[in-house]
Amino acid sequence: MLDADFFRRWMTATAASVDREAERLTALDSPIGDADHGSNLQRGFTAVVATLEKEAPDTPGAVLMLAGRQLVSTVGGASGPLYGTLLRRTGKALGDAAEVTEEQFTDALRTGIDAVMALGGAVPGDATMIDALVPAVDALADSFGAAKTAAEEGAVATTPLQARKGRASYLGERSIGHQDPGATSSALLIAALLEAAGE
Ligand code: ADP
Ligand code: MG
Repeated sequence: MLDADFFRRWMTATAASVDREAERLTALDSPIGDADHGSNLQRGFTAVVATLEKEAPDTPGAVLMLAGRQLVSTVGGASGPLYGTLLRRTGKALGDAAEVTEEQFTDALRTGIDAVMALGGAVPGDATMIDALVPAVDALADSFGAAKTAAEEGAVATTPLQARKGRASYLGERSIGHQDPGATSSALLIAALLEAAGE
């Protein structure tokens, strides 16, 4: 079972890995965007960790809804509302249970990803965060490790794709040949599940 502490650890591990990888995320956002993806997420997840420490929500759903709200209010770029929606809607789908099963979490995450697609209009193959998140949630039924691998492969697989959504889409065919920064950060988010699980 996954409790509020698990989800708190998930957010803390994500913040740490975003800190470690911020320069790389920003470098990926430089040829096809505006070179702020690393700093956007660093600011956002630092604020998430701080607010979780201060408010100490005590259910999985409350942890993720608070984290999502914090991302929306601290990240100005497209990724703030998108990641914010992902976490808020995943959290909302978890309801007010004190503990959830991995299967319930998988279903909730799928609801959150669907909400991101509804908000941003992206579908798989558009070279966005969706290309890491959808394969990850499909693999989550197997294990956190399988989800991590699927997300990383999904992020790499955005390289030959033309971006169809977000700032990178303004470049048209010139976006081909660049790995999407948001898919790359989504792979970090999914990989942090393993750390939260202590695996
Ligand atoms: P901005 O583009 O506003 O500078 P960021 O650089 O923080 O915001 O985030 C860019 C990332 O957001 C992209 O790499 C992509 O993965 C994701 N993204 C942008 N627009 C969309 C969208 N409509 N749907 C899904 N993901 C998107
Ligand atoms: Mg950007």
